[in-house]
Amino acid sequence: MSSYTAPLKDMRFALTELAGLAEVAKLPGYQEATPDTVDAILEEASKFASEVLDPLNHSGDVEGSKWSDGKVATPKGFKEAYRQYAESGWSALPFDAEHGGQGLPKLVATAVEEMLTSSNMSFSLCPLLTQGAIHALELAGSDALKQTFLGNMVAGKWTGTMNLTEPQAGSDLALVKTRAKPAGDHYLITGQKIFITYGEHDMAENIVHLVLARTPEAPEGVKGISLFLVPKFLVKPDGSLGERNGAKCASIEHKLGIHASPTAVMVFENAKGYLIGEENKGLAYMFVMMNSARFSVGLEGMSIAERAFQRALAYAKERLQGKDLVQGGKTVPIIRHPDVRRMLMLMKSQTEAMRALAYVVAASMDVVSRSPNPEEKKKHQAFVDLMIPVVKGWSTETGIDVASLGVQVHGGMGFIEETGAAQHLRDARITTIYEGTTGIQASDLVGRKIAREGGATVKEWLKVLQQFDSELGKSKNSDIQSLRTHLAAAVKAVEESVAFILSAASKDPNAAFAGAVPFLKLMGITAGGWQMARAALIAEKKLPASEDKPFLEAKIKTARFFGDHVLSQASGLAATVTSGSAAVMSLSDEQFLAA
Ligand SMILES: Cc1cc2nc3c(=O)[nH]c(=O)nc-3n(C[C@H](O)[C@H](O)[C@H](O)COP(=O)(O)OP(=O)(O)OC[C@H]3O[C@@H](n4cnc5c(N)ncnc54)[C@H](O)[C@@H]3O)c2cc1C
Repeated sequence: MSSYTAPLKDMRFALTELAGLAEVAKLPGYQEATPDTVDAILEEASKFASEVLDPLNHSGDVEGSKWSDGKVATPKGFKEAYRQYAESGWSALPFDAEHGGQGLPKLVATAVEEMLTSSNMSFSLCPLLTQGAIHALELAGSDALKQTFLGNMVAGKWTGTMNLTEPQAGSDLALVKTRAKPAGDHYLITGQKIFITYGEHDMAENIVHLVLARTPEAPEGVKGISLFLVPKFLVKPDGSLGERNGAKCASIEHKLGIHASPTAVMVFENAKGYLIGEENKGLAYMFVMMNSARFSVGLEGMSIAERAFQRALAYAKERLQGKDLVQGGKTVPIIRHPDVRRMLMLMKSQTEAMRALAYVVAASMDVVSRSPNPEEKKKHQAFVDLMIPVVKGWSTETGIDVASLGVQVHGGMGFIEETGAAQHLRDARITTIYEGTTGIQASDLVGRKIAREGGATVKEWLKVLQQFDSELGKSKNSDIQSLRTHLAAAVKAVEESVAFILSAASKDPNAAFAGAVPFLKLMGITAGGWQMARAALIAEKKLPASEDKPFLEAKIKTARFFGDHVLSQASGLAATVTSGSAAVMSLSDEQFLAA
């Protein structure tokens, strides 16, 4: 079975050349992010991922987490790996020094997160949810709550969860029923939550649940939801752990993938909870957590794609089948066959495009949190808001496609668990479901991010792409010119689709939303193509003086491939978007059943 090696060259290229690490490091408070420090962090994280997490990925999948009498045992090695993770300071990377964080940019933390996820997605989910909980507490928690909980969460001693889902309330959180009864300085929380990632486990001393619930007089729907902090163990005034709270794990789910990550049914029975922020504003706070988590789940799509690609490439170099089409003669490794190369290039080019886009968005998040310039902040916030559903929806759908191609490259052995290719496909499958399904991301994109503001941000972004076209025009490289043609067609496809969405949104919402997912995909491939084109231009400029020509040459060829095989789908997607609801809504509910 092939082992994981962090793609440090491509990560550094995306960090420095595309996402502008040097500019990010100039933002107030990020002076620690010097090239040497970032290099050392990447090297150390890559070692931790390859040497500690990767060896536990397959065994964790086979063993799974186990529930017994309210307790959950994670697979062999996870507890020790988590101890090392926390002690090495990985959990503290992106947080403010005030609560013990290292104050490094989100951009750097994103690269580290990629490595943790590629090597062991099940493990990485625990830090992912803890980080989201820390963000929500930082945003809306009282000083007392921050004082009591943040230090230990940032240090990785306590972990966090996100308790939204209930049996009747999945995509539609307006249906949340869990109750919160005021009781002096706290509330008593009663209800059931399902599908709670790391809701119970044995890797940390305490678990800090962030729970959505309704107070007695709360209005119906999303306007009556509040957010509460409910610890597994209550915390005494001196900071030590006290009594067990009434938040219990009733069972864990048996799942298609991410077997090592416990997915808990949580029962709250008069559990002591503390209000975060103000009553009835819970969903707004939770959105902060969800945005952070949505970005991270998008990263999961890309990270799994990277891992699946590495495994497929290793196999394709070794597996001997068939003869070279041109040379004939001896049996050759399957990597010699054009179709296998096509699959590998699809895997590689889409992974690089997803990485580039995610890192660029992470750099914008850093500008939002640290820039002293309000105009800059506003501009980058609008870009981040537009791109979050794209990073989440497109990267996860593509992650599944890439993991599936990984199985295909392995042939029959891909379907057999021992090779590990099947695990990536099983693990990737959840990413388009949790943190808002692809349908929900696409609705967010079309409704909130485009129609509601009359397409203002997307039109600004399209202007950037149009200006970039003239830069591309200056290149003499034929691969770059080919990519330029595809990118220009994709920009036109987005323009047409946006115009359609804007005109249909109020007149015929079904028409605007019927093509929401194809539109999300169109946005993803266009944004990815933009980054691949930027990468190709930079590679072209650096090539003459470079000591690593193969990497830069490959970057240009890979970008061209992305144009020919992925970006070329843009006009078809636009046709689907603008065909509106006619076909989608044409069958009546009865006709669906007419066999
Ligand atoms: C392994 C795992 C881990 C999870 N971890 C957590 C966690 O830590 N915390 C937590 O709170 N939850 C968690 N979840 C829950 C997860 O977020 C939900 O499953 C998800 O939001 C979808 O909700 P649902 O399952 O009820 O599906 P439904 O909402 O019933 O959706 C079913 C289908 O209908 C579509 N649909 C629904 N509404 C709309 C709409 N308005 N427009 C268009 N399409 C729509 C969906 O896209 C989907 O295809 C987890 C789930 C799993 C399986």
